[in-house]
Amino acid sequence: MKCPECGRELQPDFNYCPECGVEVDRSVQFKQIVDDSFTRLEEVVQGDALLRLESLSSRLESIEAELELFLTSAPQKS
Ligand SMILES: [Zn+2]
Repeated sequence: MKCPECGRELQPDFNYCPECGVEVDRSVQFKQIVDDSFTRLEEVVQGDALLRLESLSSRLESIEAELELFLTSAPQKS
């Protein structure tokens, strides 16, 4: 996970970048962690395993969509 502003490497539990103070968007962070994991996996996995990985990836995308929906539809207090 890197800071989107200054590119500094951040710990996963950081809410703010210690370098430039930018707030870390949790949903972006989640997506980036998933993307990073798959990028690393794709480097070492080939053939059939890669196909299985792609189906896993599309399942994760639907989870991601649900998470995004959850994050953007927080109950409004009137
Ligand atoms: Zn930063």
